[in-house]
Amino acid sequence: MAYDTDNIFAKILRGEIPCDKVFENDYALAFRDINPQAPVHLLVIPKGPYEALDDFTEKATDAEIEGFFRAVGTVAREAGAVDAGYRFLANCGPDAHQEVSHFHVHIFAGRDLGGMIKRPD
Ligand code: 5GP
Repeated sequence: MAYDTDNIFAKILRGEIPCDKVFENDYALAFRDINPQAPVHLLVIPKGPYEALDDFTEKATDAEIEGFFRAVGTVAREAGAVDAGYRFLANCGPDAHQEVSHFHVHIFAGRDLGGMIKRPD
């Protein structure tokens, strides 16, 4: 599937809609989630046009991949989340309920985050 250049995170990257930015480098932008699920809920996105982890790791350059994942760690450290712990999560595709079709990593912290995954009903 072709990357949708009108997705909301592409618009944030182009500066067409605002975000509450916490970090930026050449390869990544991090900002607060608009609907936080934890006291700390940050999103880290690569600057290139990738839909999910699989095409990011298939198509991005080594510099993009390194710059992005180093940024994720930096964001977690700068959020003060390391000592108490945090969750790093990426929803990819329909079964994972990915809502925004631009690859992103969630960082959750600031409370006990509970079990790892929803169990079947
Ligand atoms: P997904 O389900 O795709 O992994 O998560 C998408 C996330 O993007 C959700 O947690 C949602 O609250 C967040 N989100 C959607 N639209 C916006 C927006 O315009 N600004 C910000 N900061 N977050 C958004």
